[in-house]
Amino acid sequence: MVGRLAPSPTGRMHIGNVYAALAAWLGVRAANGRLLLRIEDIDAPRVVPDADRWIMDDLTWLGLDWDGEAVYQSQRLDRYELALRRFQEMTWDGGTVDGVDGNADDMSRDEGGAACPLVYPCFCSRADIRTASAPNEGDGFLIYPGTCRRLSDEERQSRMTCGDRHSWRIAVPDASAAASDRVVRFDDRVFGPQSFDLARQLGDVVIRRSDGLFAYQLAVSVDDLEMGVTQIVRGRDLLRSTAIQLWIRRWLCACGFGAMGEDLRDGRDVREPADGLRTVGAEAAAAVRGMTSQSTEFAHLPLIDAADGRRMAKRLNSLDMGTLRERGVDPREVVGYCAWLLGVIDEPQPMEPHDLLPMFSWRAVTADTSDRRVNVDEVFR
Ligand code: GLU
Repeated sequence: MVGRLAPSPTGRMHIGNVYAALAAWLGVRAANGRLLLRIEDIDAPRVVPDADRWIMDDLTWLGLDWDGEAVYQSQRLDRYELALRRFQEMTWDGGTVDGVDGNADDMSRDEGGAACPLVYPCFCSRADIRTASAPNEGDGFLIYPGTCRRLSDEERQSRMTCGDRHSWRIAVPDASAAASDRVVRFDDRVFGPQSFDLARQLGDVVIRRSDGLFAYQLAVSVDDLEMGVTQIVRGRDLLRSTAIQLWIRRWLCACGFGAMGEDLRDGRDVREPADGLRTVGAEAAAAVRGMTSQSTEFAHLPLIDAADGRRMAKRLNSLDMGTLRERGVDPREVVGYCAWLLGVIDEPQPMEPHDLLPMFSWRAVTADTSDRRVNVDEVFR
């Protein structure tokens, strides 16, 4: 088993981040697996200088260790670039890449009658999309109405030549596709069986933003695949993202991406492991079948809210590790409190992470899947 901690270095960790990190640590360590640390620093405007070091220092202070060197997304831009380039070469007949039974032979590359590009430039502004989209369901997704997917090749080409500002989107099966093609299913260790309709609940998502930055959905899919991650633990606000990440992962596999082994896991710099695109044929088809949701376990966690119902966020400064450490709080108190939030122990009490291992099971976490409320002023006084 290989798990990962994937903090965004946008500030000091708060109690919600510690709770998620502890769950990821327990999930992997209880199974004698490897835990990797990936610093998700591609959203440059949101990165706070030194936050990566604060996070690593706080994890160490808490007793949450990881294996190998930290992997920085900002050092992996060439991988995301390669994925985008491979995707730009792919066309697709609008069906699925891999149904439950996995029929990857449906994929076509630069061939096939009604083939459409897998990824396409999108020239819409946020305002355009907001006006034309289905209502937002609350976790930040705006379902793209597909405007630029319908542009002709000529129009696309001429707007690109004019240098029009654009993002890149990955196409998903549209609403007219058979349900078996549109719906992504996976089993969540906490929230149980999940199914998301790619057409109705996700839409064509951005994989490269119009400011040139790679989008979270692409970066995380490439990384989890190449780092060989087999257990993903994170907040339930990312449940829906899992569906699109599985979709992206299938295409990455079809393009010859796969786990890169020890070189990457140990943080060494690997330049060009996948030597170009393997033709979509038997080999890639096998890769697609082997590397779908079955090989990755997901555990999405109830969220932690402040007592006033607001989501805890780094910017709220709520119970951040800096404040707690200044107050002289014992790391075991923080760990025990988070273990109690997870449902691993019945009452908050000081605990070492290792002492929690015999008590940990996903069943304990699943017993109560409602979001947790934390009264910032009442704990760790
Ligand atoms: N970097 C994300 C965060 O800190 C986590 C993303 C993920 O686990 O996929 O919220």
